[in-house]
Amino acid sequence: MMSARDGKVVVITGASSGIGEATARLLASQGAHIVIGARRLERLEALASDIRAEGGSVAYQQLDVTDLDQMKAIVLMAQKRFGRLDVVVNNAGVMPLSPLEALKIDEWNRMIDVNIRGVLHGIAAGLPIMREQGFGQFVNVASIGAYEVSPTAAVYCATKYAVRAITEGLRQEAGSNIRATLVSPGVTESELADSITDEGARQLMKDYRRIALPASAIARSIAYAIEQPEGVDVNELIIRPASQL
Ligand code: NDP
Repeated sequence: MMSARDGKVVVITGASSGIGEATARLLASQGAHIVIGARRLERLEALASDIRAEGGSVAYQQLDVTDLDQMKAIVLMAQKRFGRLDVVVNNAGVMPLSPLEALKIDEWNRMIDVNIRGVLHGIAAGLPIMREQGFGQFVNVASIGAYEVSPTAAVYCATKYAVRAITEGLRQEAGSNIRATLVSPGVTESELADSITDEGARQLMKDYRRIALPASAIARSIAYAIEQPEGVDVNELIIRPASQL
């Protein structure tokens, strides 16, 4: 049985903090080869040295997922370095929440660019390699916001609905040897809310954060989807704090 412990090569976007970082640590501790990308290089360096100190196998490269060439470059680096590409975890995301009427158009565009285009770039970079080698898996990190909309979160939820639609389309088209998994967290400890500039939205998130799950809880669900035997495709996982409505 293939499992995350069997030396799978896993590229993780947005691995400099939160869920991506926790996933990198967990999968590395289970024996996977981890390739981490994000914009903050110093964070990646520190994480890689932690993982190596624990005996894990890791490579890193600066990555802005809105740039297709950078996404292709990190995936190619993973394949060259470790000889294959088992999984791309499209995890990078931003969440500057605000009411629509605040017209924070730059923030809308940033969410569309990172949360939707970033995931598409991950697929565009990984799919040709997976097709050629005849196996692979995408784990796309969406949100409970992929299933329901709440005030101040219209655009964020729209991007996550899009990730859900893209992942389901990918599942249908990719064929039986390429798996597509959607992981949708509820409120989770991370740096995600730090970029909220709207005071009302920031206050709302502060209250929510009191019940947040540790990022390791989401990492475990990603590991679960990855370690399933060939032919078993975990399509959707929703993980939320038991006290979150
Ligand atoms: P963090 O803010 O801690 O992590 C987000 C990561 O995305 C960072 O590593 C950041 O790194 C990276 N990132 C942002 N923009 C880019 C970019 N342009 N290119 C590459 N990397 C980028 O938040 P989370 O860990 O919570 O977020 C991970 C995912 O989980 C996101 O998709 C988020 O929407 C989703 N999620 C989180 C929930 C929560 O409550 N925390 C709930 C539901 C979903 P850097 O700045 O270094 O580039």
